[in-house]
Amino acid sequence: MRQSFQSLLLAQGQAPKPVFEPSREAIVLWAVGAVFGLFLAAYLYLSRNAVLKRKVFLVSSFVGATIVLGVFYLMPSPPGWFLFVMPVLVIIGYINIRTTRFCQSCGRTLFRQPMFTRPTFCPYCGGEVS
Ligand SMILES: [Zn+2]
Repeated sequence: MRQSFQSLLLAQGQAPKPVFEPSREAIVLWAVGAVFGLFLAAYLYLSRNAVLKRKVFLVSSFVGATIVLGVFYLMPSPPGWFLFVMPVLVIIGYINIRTTRFCQSCGRTLFRQPMFTRPTFCPYCGGEVS
């Protein structure tokens, strides 16, 4: 006799556990965010225009945070999620912006720079880092 797991549980009088099912919109938005992130990473890696990259990076940080908020909004999130997610996004964004620098000489993107010390010198070309 073939029976699905769910109907077996129902037959035993147990309610099936609620399955976590994000909406289609949330999945699509998450995919858009992932593609956006990949393009941003490629751009930051390939471009040597430090001035433009700094602007793009700042704008992208806000766009990325908005996408994450949108995904949470579209998902079955618990009430009050906004109060938890918002500060986390602000902190992550702040750390990202503080630890990502751009070399003014060769234009490379320098990730994971020390957060509280002022910019030093580019490990690739020795130029000044902004
Ligand atoms: Zn450099």
